[in-house]
Amino acid sequence: IREDQVIFEVKGLKKHFGGVKAVDGVNFNVKKGDIHVLIGPNGSGKTTVINVLSGIYTATEGIVKYREKEITNHKPHLIVQMGAARTFQNIRLFPELSVIDNVMIGQHTRTKANLFHVMLNSRSAREEERKIRARAEEALAFVGFDNYFEKVKNLSYGQQRLVEIARALAAEPDLLFLDEPAAGMNPEETQELIKLIKRMNELGITMLLIEHDMQLVSQVADYITVLDFGKKISEGSVEQVLNDPEVIKAYLGE
Ligand code: ADP
Repeated sequence: IREDQVIFEVKGLKKHFGGVKAVDGVNFNVKKGDIHVLIGPNGSGKTTVINVLSGIYTATEGIVKYREKEITNHKPHLIVQMGAARTFQNIRLFPELSVIDNVMIGQHTRTKANLFHVMLNSRSAREEERKIRARAEEALAFVGFDNYFEKVKNLSYGQQRLVEIARALAAEPDLLFLDEPAAGMNPEETQELIKLIKRMNELGITMLLIEHDMQLVSQVADYITVLDFGKKISEGSVEQVLNDPEVIKAYLGE
């Protein structure tokens, strides 16, 4: 791996909602192997950027490239299939289903062939099912979760966040988007999350995450991009951006 290899490229990205310029001409690169953090005051456009990169929203303008292929406005499941998975700020799990089912569900929709096999209930369908289950169990073990059959609604908020991460991991991504992974976590859970983020990174997973918890950011970030009013106002190491007068001004003005 060349250290300076760019895995994700964002050029001139704009996302407007009517008159609201949520993202207004943003450029940045994510280097392979980095933990890259997007920060910025509330409403600065961070979630909108991730939503465009992961295919949830179409871009108003601009180019998104993943491993040198243009993926602007590709459908979310295609982006996941290419290896970029995500978690959501507002947890998107099925509360009535078990942990293991929640982690497995996303994987069934990966290819049309799977659905076809499931309908046929063929031997290969059962084989596929076993593989999906094994991957889900592996992902849950990795995040440190062993209560596979508990219903998600009985878990704490922090535990639900871990299940979401496991679900993203089960897709075997090489890039993960994490939208405020520490939101709703207590200090111990946040410490565990920091360790988990580092362990996932050691597996070779590049990460682009949004986070407000500056303790977490300063412990994990290789590189930071700072947004304000839909524009990039600063970038660099933790020290560089936290000492940048533009960044201080943006946060004080909040
Ligand atoms: P952040 O994640 O930095 O808090 P967001 O990306 O959520 O910021 O929001 C940026 C701006 O875009 C805000 O002004 C927000 O109200 C607006 N916005 C976000 N999503 C939508 C939407 N679906 N429709 C209209 N406006 C939106």
